[in-house]
Amino acid sequence: MSSLSVHGAAQVLLPPEPGLPYLRGDAGNRMTLAPGGVTCRDGVIAALEDDPGAEVQVDASGAAVLPGLVDCHTHLPFAGWRAEEYAMKVAGVPYAEIARLGGGIRSSARMLAEMPDGDVLGQARGLADEMLRLGTTAFECKSGYGLSLDAERRQLGLAEALCGHVPQATAITALVAHAVPEGFTPGEWLDAVEGALDHLLSAAMVTALDCFIESVAFDNAALERVGAMAADRGLWLRAHVEQLGCHRSVPVAVANGARSVDHLSMVHADDVALLGRAECAAVLLPSAEVLNDEHAAPGRALLDAGAIGVLATDLNPGTSPVTSLPLVMGLAVRRYRWTALEAAAAVTLNAAWVMGQSSAAGSLEPGKRADLVILDAPLEHVPYRLGHDPVEIVVVGGRVVHVRPGSEWRLGG
Ligand SMILES: [Zn+2]
Repeated sequence: MSSLSVHGAAQVLLPPEPGLPYLRGDAGNRMTLAPGGVTCRDGVIAALEDDPGAEVQVDASGAAVLPGLVDCHTHLPFAGWRAEEYAMKVAGVPYAEIARLGGGIRSSARMLAEMPDGDVLGQARGLADEMLRLGTTAFECKSGYGLSLDAERRQLGLAEALCGHVPQATAITALVAHAVPEGFTPGEWLDAVEGALDHLLSAAMVTALDCFIESVAFDNAALERVGAMAADRGLWLRAHVEQLGCHRSVPVAVANGARSVDHLSMVHADDVALLGRAECAAVLLPSAEVLNDEHAAPGRALLDAGAIGVLATDLNPGTSPVTSLPLVMGLAVRRYRWTALEAAAAVTLNAAWVMGQSSAAGSLEPGKRADLVILDAPLEHVPYRLGHDPVEIVVVGGRVVHVRPGSEWRLGG
């Protein structure tokens, strides 16, 4: 029996009431930040108070204690980076030209094809470790850089292997419609995916199918098809929509039972109210918006309408090589005019719900997995000190997995 007690915190972030699957609209503001402690026993949260008898004692004086952060939209595992492309983008070279020069999603597919499994996993494990040190205790993996059935299956297998090698909780999404592979029409590619779906999904424990709906990728008819494939197999539907242009994909996604619609920079004003009512999360990706010079999603309007607001890094080598959820929270607060509490809800309980894990993670409640982060300041400093790493200690499953150099004193002698 192992036990860990956090005592003397200036703030412990607690949900408005236990058992909530998510916090709609501005309900994040009903979370509380009172002084206190947390006790973990055998990997789960045992009590919302400290226990002087616990084996491991964590001194949280002056600190905020949050549930572990959840990154529900990443493209791990991928191979290599595309820094030269970013420089071109900044200089004003259009994406179509970058793609013509061999860049874009196809260049990531090429790098993935050329890199041995061990090297892909090495890069992904390094990034997962970087995320852990920034407070991320659960994250999503996606396929989508294969662009052939064999390569997509290999990427799903690599995602499965990655999940077995990291301390974090994980979920795997098959991004079956990312870019249209050469030699296929969009319809032909979806025919091929549909015919091979059982074989593809046998490579990993997949919980959702995803698609990229954009003029350079797939259309709303493809979204419906992927939705039908997901429903057929009891998987969730997720979709990259309204990133670069407005295609009115949100009503299609909601009608097909989507768990989330992600990006939304160009979402139609009429569809904001729909997301305010639907049980479909609005996953906003402000670091992708900034680095890709996109419009800001209507984050304030979405929360005011009652949407399930979520934030994620979109970690990928093209549009968002970003691992830090604290940084994403800071961008969201400024860009969407959210409160620090709303941003906190969006990277904890609400993000866990998107991954289907909010009954076991995403908030500090007795019985949930003992994933927590201890910050060097009150929560309000996270968005305010943009770019600063606020994470001193990370606990996963009741075990200390990261201590920031200089913060060893919090664990005693
Ligand atoms: Zn993405």
